Amino acid sequence: MGAVGEGIALDVSVSDGAQAVLAVKVRRAKKKELSKLAQEQALVSAMERGRYSSLLAQISRSKMRKVEAALIDQASRMLKSMQPKEGTFLKHKELNHFMKWKHVTIPSGAEEVVQLCDGSADCPCNVGSAQPGELCEVLSDSVADALHGIAPGQVAPDQWLFQALVKAALAAPEGCVWKSGGKFLLTNEDRNQSPTAIVGVLERDNQESAAGKGIRALVAHTEQEYGYRVTAIQLNFHPNHKSSHKQHRDIYGAGQKGGINCTCSFMKCTGTVCYSIGSSRQILCETITDSRSKYETCGEECTGRKTYKWMHSGSAMHFNAPWNNNHTHGDLDASVWCLPSVADETSRAVSYNRGLNASKRVWGYVILYL
Ligand SMILES: [Zn+2]
Ligand SMILES: [Zn+2]
Ligand SMILES: [Zn+2]
Repeated sequence: MGAVGEGIALDVSVSDGAQAVLAVKVRRAKKKELSKLAQEQALVSAMERGRYSSLLAQISRSKMRKVEAALIDQASRMLKSMQPKEGTFLKHKELNHFMKWKHVTIPSGAEEVVQLCDGSADCPCNVGSAQPGELCEVLSDSVADALHGIAPGQVAPDQWLFQALVKAALAAPEGCVWKSGGKFLLTNEDRNQSPTAIVGVLERDNQESAAGKGIRALVAHTEQEYGYRVTAIQLNFHPNHKSSHKQHRDIYGAGQKGGINCTCSFMKCTGTVCYSIGSSRQILCETITDSRSKYETCGEECTGRKTYKWMHSGSAMHFNAPWNNNHTHGDLDASVWCLPSVADETSRAVSYNRGLNASKRVWGYVILYL
């Protein structure tokens, strides 16, 4: 909220003692003070209107603008007593119904299908990369590697983690698995996706919860394997074959320095690792030719280069910042899967493809050995 206009601030103080002096200083209000005041008014009116999603949004804005803690507490207590609107979250009953391991199916078809640009065979998009150092890969068995020694072993590690996460979602209050685009996210009531907040909601009822242990192990694995530090975790729930995640780039926050002695800020590198748990997701990776991308279009007719990749349960996909600049990614609902043969159409029809994705946004300073 930007505050417009001007304001007057009074700094008032009273000294001690019998000869107390009242000092009043009149000055022009600072911009920060005005926007805090405007935010305070927005929070109060959201409390009066009593709509869940706008109150939630105003609370997090108020925290950023340092509105009085007592007012934020009052608003937070009010939010906790409210229910989000029907259809904007996955109810416990629906979680129980949809998120069952037995619904997991594995569609057949090629692991990777590439569609070249329709505009021109010589299109620069068809080269496959726009700059050196781009990385995007699917790795099978990553979840088993990450959970080695953590998952008890009676069932497959991905099944164990899937069931643990569904159990944790059922233990969280109604409304914590909320709709975001074509899928649902599990977070705490503040919708905070920092690793601490995510692990916090998984361990709220039980410090020793399997879900907490599993996600901690995935974080450790991610940091070890890629040399990054995990800064955000997104738990995506895909309850049925209609769920999807539209094409997008990941947004990486402003990187922090690696430490007080760090001199390698120019090597800052960010990336994303996603794990599929109990779901086969078809990921569409597409070249993009906007100003941020290094790809050049071949002309008006350019359709870019599309790569369809399967991420089956237990696998991971990793991509880095240069790749993210030059491509978009998304995961497709079953009606638009790229399945090359007629036989595979049956697989689309019968496949229910339910499951979870856990994606970790990571940043780090890549240690380069030159
Ligand atoms: Zn993404
Ligand atoms: Zn450094
Ligand atoms: Zn083209």
